[in-house]
Amino acid sequence: MDKRTVYMDYNATTPLHPAVRDAMVADLDIFANASSMHEMGRRARARVEAARVSVAALIGAGTDPERIVFTSGGSESNNTVFATMFHLGRTGTRRGIVTTSIEHPCVLQAAQWLKDEGFPVTFLKVDGYGRVDMDELKSVVGPDTLLVSVMAANNEIGTIQEISEIGRIAKAAGAWFHTDATQAAGKIPVDVEDWQADYLTLSCHKIYGPKGIGALYLRKGAPLEPLIRGGHQEYGHRAGTYNNIGIFGFGAAARLAAEELAEYAHHVSALRNRLREGIVANVPKIRVNGHPVAVLPNTLNVSFPGAEGESILLYLDLAGIEASTGSACASGSLEPSHVLLATGVGPELAHGSIRFSLGRNTTEADVDYVIETLPPIIARLRAMSTVEA
Ligand SMILES: *Cc1c(COP(=O)(O)O)cnc(C)c1O
Repeated sequence: MDKRTVYMDYNATTPLHPAVRDAMVADLDIFANASSMHEMGRRARARVEAARVSVAALIGAGTDPERIVFTSGGSESNNTVFATMFHLGRTGTRRGIVTTSIEHPCVLQAAQWLKDEGFPVTFLKVDGYGRVDMDELKSVVGPDTLLVSVMAANNEIGTIQEISEIGRIAKAAGAWFHTDATQAAGKIPVDVEDWQADYLTLSCHKIYGPKGIGALYLRKGAPLEPLIRGGHQEYGHRAGTYNNIGIFGFGAAARLAAEELAEYAHHVSALRNRLREGIVANVPKIRVNGHPVAVLPNTLNVSFPGAEGESILLYLDLAGIEASTGSACASGSLEPSHVLLATGVGPELAHGSIRFSLGRNTTEADVDYVIETLPPIIARLRAMSTVEA
């Protein structure tokens, strides 16, 4: 019954950091409504506001608590930005939306919604490494552009965008600039000032905190249309009783992510490189996807010609290795990854691609186990396959 388990799906979600867990358990009974005026309510509210400051600190947003709006997660934060643009664009003269073809489904579908509503929406092309075509960006962003929304780092291939340059171009044209930093936070430095972000999306469960809590950074003066109307919580930006324990957990997770960033990046990048080299040395004819340098330290996406991704996952899973064929949100559908397709990987090859995403608990023994387990799986699948490797 002692089956070995190697979790390499940290871009889908992360376990609680033990110190986050401790912090949540210690404060589990702070149940009071943080909007209540009594002593217990004020105590809860003080904790909520302290968490807000910790989240702001992770992204260089200073100490003004009103800059952070707690939401239910990354999907809600992204949708709130697009809903805001819907309201602005209906009455204003600027209506252009510029985003990319490799965004998370929650951005892609929100952008598609605006397109269906008649907004001019551009889905920027990316190069073979998944980087935004800066010439195309410059040519489409102009006086009609309402919003530029480009993710800081991609969840499937890990490619990091030239985000401060993109922010500069957006701001020079007078557009609002949003970035989905859900995968960047806790893995690379995030700085709303350097990036010139008006809106920035975070999700707690990707940084070793609980699920169902996230944040939207809001630059002073940037408009926000509430997605959820009702009470005056979140400075009027989002109604609903404060999620005390989620917010406390987020505060702890943000503080630890900032403290441990350098150590984390060092740890996971060494292991990710070891994994990449091990796979390259032991499995012939593969393709490593994503940017060779501008890539998240924990992410490795590999295409295995002649093998089918779902089958690879199945055999890995039988061996106790938990990986992914790309985004957790897109798997389950048999469509090949929209991210890989956008980088020019053909549908056949895109189907045979696996994302290994490492984390703070990954060990060298885990990596070596994958390097030892994977090659015979690929060889067996290729032997059964009718597709040329
Ligand atoms: C996970 C993820 C999201 C969604 O966040 P949730 O909190 O799960 O809603 C959005 N964008 C990116 C890039 C992600 O990786």
